[in-house]
Amino acid sequence: MASDRTPHAIPRFERVEDERRHRKQRLAAALRLFGQFGFDEGAAGHITARDPGLLDHFWVNPLGMSFKQVSVKDLILVNEQGEVVEGNWPVNAAAFVIHSQIHAARPDVVAAAHSHSMYGKAWSILRRPLDPLTQDACAFYGDHVVFADYTGVVLDVEEGKRIAHALGDCKAAILSNHGLLTVGRSVDEAAWWFISMEHSCQAQLLAEAAGTPVLIDREQAEKTARQVGGSGWLSFQPLYDWIVELQPELLDE
Ligand SMILES: [Zn+2]
Repeated sequence: MASDRTPHAIPRFERVEDERRHRKQRLAAALRLFGQFGFDEGAAGHITARDPGLLDHFWVNPLGMSFKQVSVKDLILVNEQGEVVEGNWPVNAAAFVIHSQIHAARPDVVAAAHSHSMYGKAWSILRRPLDPLTQDACAFYGDHVVFADYTGVVLDVEEGKRIAHALGDCKAAILSNHGLLTVGRSVDEAAWWFISMEHSCQAQLLAEAAGTPVLIDREQAEKTARQVGGSGWLSFQPLYDWIVELQPELLDE
């Protein structure tokens, strides 16, 4: 039987208001998914989405609200000075310092995600890049960096600049003794890379605990990276559909 379902395709928007609403919906859904997967640690963690009209402003989750409870109406808009210009909740200072510098340095980046998820955090202690151990991990092969410079909670814009500089053109950074950071050309992409990188950290930790991992050789890793390294948006779609069905109130405006 033929499905009446429209195949997933990256949406394009004529009107900036429509694109803004779309980004906010994806952002609220990504936050709910992070909550569902247990990526929250108290008030730590943030996902930002660049505003499609005010390009130096971004939308972010409110400081002190659980990922599990964020709806579209709760998202706050932050300007280039770190001031909340829409919404009634405060912004996490570290979210502003890190994300503002990444959004400024990377015009291609629409969204950035960071949290203190368990396996990313554990892997970050080793201060090593992920190895190409699995097909999924190859998405990060040659496309992530280790920021090996832990200096406490990131509250200084200069530190945010250093993280953005270290990230370069990559899709992800391992912030040593801290956690993972991913970016994307959409909220969907940034969120998926975070979820997948967290799983890749878990897989490598399990493999190294059990024995001596055998790496995918360089040629195959590079080929696989080309095959899977651009599929972040699509991979997020089933998760978006699932979380909206499970928690439709996340779309409340
Ligand atoms: Zn953090």
